[in-house]
Amino acid sequence: MTLTNTHILQQTRFLFSAAKATQFAEDAGVEVAFAGRSNAGKSSAINRIARQTKLAKTSKTPGRTQLINFFQVADNNWRLVDLPGYGYAKVPLAMKQSWQNLIDTYLRERQCLQGIFLIMDIRHPLTEFDQTILKWTKQSHLKCHILLSKTDKLKYGPAKSTLLGVQRELSAFPDASAQLFSASTDIGWDEAREKLLTWLSTTA
Ligand code: GDP
Repeated sequence: MTLTNTHILQQTRFLFSAAKATQFAEDAGVEVAFAGRSNAGKSSAINRIARQTKLAKTSKTPGRTQLINFFQVADNNWRLVDLPGYGYAKVPLAMKQSWQNLIDTYLRERQCLQGIFLIMDIRHPLTEFDQTILKWTKQSHLKCHILLSKTDKLKYGPAKSTLLGVQRELSAFPDASAQLFSASTDIGWDEAREKLLTWLSTTA
């Protein structure tokens, strides 16, 4: 990892939001998408990895991020993509279906998508939504890296055994990996950032 690379994610800036496929960024360059259930800690993880405080909006109101948000990394043709949080019970069904369709369209059609960072609250790993994303990445031969977020909420022993349990489940998914992560501390920051940079710097 070069010194330039360690700072490159800090030069990430918001591009625009898309409510439908015609508003997506041009399908060129390299993208890494962030997915997760609402409130899993996805926005906080993006901010932490990019060493910025307000890049992705974090909110105590689950489900606020309803659009696909595109971020540009430095001057490269690299983008981070924040997918709408999924699974907040209080959202009307029609709205849930419209998010689901937007996520489905993005995941199915995106040629420049390198892989997915899937954020899970370590206290509720591998929900039905997470399993759906995992299975889909396997079918599409896409990489999937799981951040077990909010690791600071658990003691080391239970956190480590959750990670081992998740890794056991991943034995059926050869292109999937998992790590501990906390947006409030430095747990997992280095590992997540290196993984992201490795994926971004992969030219198709
Ligand atoms: P999102 O809906 O998945 O984008 O989740 P947010 O990033 O908005 O986080 C949801 C809530 O969890 C917020 O109150 C965050 O402050 C909190 N949170 C997120 N990540 C962490 C973490 O690593 N540790 C702790 N303790 N809280 C976190």
